[in-house]
Amino acid sequence: MQTFSGLSRPVSVFRHPVFLRILLIVLGLLISVWLAGRLGEQRAWQERSIEGQGQLQLYQQTLHTLVERFRSVPALLALDKDVRSLLRSPEDQHLRQSLNERLARLNQAAGSSVLYLIDRHGDTLAASNWDEASSFVGHNYAFRPYFQDALQDVWGRYFAVGVTTGVPGYFLSHAIEQDGVVTGVLVVKLELEDLQRDWLGQPGTFLVTADDQVVILSNRPAWRFRHLEPLAAEQRVQLIDARKYAEQTLQAMISEPLRRIDTFSEVRRVAGPEGLRDYFWQRLGPNQEGWTLHLLQEPNVVMGKVQGYRLSAAGLWMTLAFLVLFLIQRRRNQHLLQSRRTELERLVVERTAELRKAQDELVQAAKLAALGQMSAALAHELNQPLTAMRMQLGSLRLLQRSGREEQVQEVLTHFDSLLQRMAGLTSHLKVFARESPGGLRERLSLAHVLDQALQLLAPRLRTAQVLVDNQVDVEAWVLGDAIRLEQVLVNLLDNALDATAHQPHPELRIRSRRTGEIWQLSVSDNGGGIAAEHLQRLFDPFFTTKPVGEGLGLGLAISYGIVRDLGGSLGAATSDDGAVFTLTLPAADTEHHSSQRGHRDGSSHLHRR
Ligand code: ADP
Repeated sequence: MQTFSGLSRPVSVFRHPVFLRILLIVLGLLISVWLAGRLGEQRAWQERSIEGQGQLQLYQQTLHTLVERFRSVPALLALDKDVRSLLRSPEDQHLRQSLNERLARLNQAAGSSVLYLIDRHGDTLAASNWDEASSFVGHNYAFRPYFQDALQDVWGRYFAVGVTTGVPGYFLSHAIEQDGVVTGVLVVKLELEDLQRDWLGQPGTFLVTADDQVVILSNRPAWRFRHLEPLAAEQRVQLIDARKYAEQTLQAMISEPLRRIDTFSEVRRVAGPEGLRDYFWQRLGPNQEGWTLHLLQEPNVVMGKVQGYRLSAAGLWMTLAFLVLFLIQRRRNQHLLQSRRTELERLVVERTAELRKAQDELVQAAKLAALGQMSAALAHELNQPLTAMRMQLGSLRLLQRSGREEQVQEVLTHFDSLLQRMAGLTSHLKVFARESPGGLRERLSLAHVLDQALQLLAPRLRTAQVLVDNQVDVEAWVLGDAIRLEQVLVNLLDNALDATAHQPHPELRIRSRRTGEIWQLSVSDNGGGIAAEHLQRLFDPFFTTKPVGEGLGLGLAISYGIVRDLGGSLGAATSDDGAVFTLTLPAADTEHHSSQRGHRDGSSHLHRR
């Protein structure tokens, strides 16, 4: 079956870890910026909403104070004697004129726009503007709701555009009762144009709507007389009857909510005088007058804030992302370092083991070489008792034939001791030749190991007639490896024998000494010593002063290594007389034998043939 390599093993940039990481960071960045934007927007809207509410409350307060100032004016005037008299005799021209003048004075003093008196049919009897072209006198206002409300409920209030003046204003009315019958109505008209003019410079669009949702006041004149809600046909008829907005054409201002911020605020899309636009729209009210206040602001006032939030979120995200990346990288480096270290340690262990093996092999080779050199002497050593025994065999047969039983026994005992000596030597040779791995630590007696070494060298010592002065402490217990230590001693003694080979009276002195936790063993000879220039190179491998075929120059180098491995040291010194080699080893404590310290026997042995 064939497979398409492209399908079975898709090679894609998306699988690349770096690409993935960048993708993650960018994604996170986008999400955090988006979230921060939303949060920032919400916050900014809320702040803006609180500010706007404050602004609206301020406007409301101004309106309220203004209206409140005139609220009691018609009620007070309703109690006026002249007003009441005129209502009783409306034909009295003199009274009418004097009331006209009084109303004009009062109107000026109070600061209202027009003050006027209407009889119970709606006809204006007297007015503060009696002498102006737009005088209310003689006009009938029975159709106005403020008149009808006063007749019914004693007082009324109403926002309307003046039918006579064409100027919008707020009408406050109060009924005049005489003997339980309403005889007329007093009205004060407030024009709010000055107030509206004061608001012109304010930021944002400020609207006041009456209860019919028509804008009656605004700091943007173009917005005035637009209705926020579609007008029902019946409502439209009512407005026309009351001539509330006189000749003003009412335009609808369609808007749709986009987003709600809180109970008073939302974002709306408005088809207003400035075209289709989004506004942040806040409301307050309706107040006592039934008016609702609105504040419309461009929504981009919050965008600066949102941008700030987005930027800080981006900064925070990037910091976090890089921190995480840094930590990951650091961890990775640590892992790498750790694995390298482990690998290195493994290699060191491996190489150390190899080195150790090589060293062991070298030590063994050197030992076998030394044995090889001794082999002739050792063969002779074994041959000697054999020859003696063979020679004695003849006389043994004779003694047996002649029945000299006692002498036969004597010879046999001698045989036995010779055989034992040979067995001892061969078994020791076997042990000495055995390969001993490095690192062995056992408690050994220096004196015993030295005896073994001397035994191996016995033939040579005898041949050369060397005086061995051995005063090694029998209690010199050390920690080490018996075979290797013997190898060192054989080497030192062998060198001493070489050095003293031409001396007429060769002598070896072997001493032991304890200092602290260490045992010292020194081997001195009278072989003439070592030349100063050779002294530093003695322990170098292949350094030898002996003729070719007699020395390899490895003995001391290997011995040095062995002693160091056992935790001791090996050093050389020289005098005119001869050389002194000193080896130290850590003492093995002698719990059982410490009380019997003393020299082995204190005597000297002369090995002679
Ligand atoms: P080798 O015995 O094969 O020469 P060693 O390492 O045992 O190798 O000895 C190195 C050299 O140290 C010898 O060749 C000799 O010159 C010198 N040396 C060792 N022991 C003595 C000694 N007791 N007296 C004088 N020289 C010595």
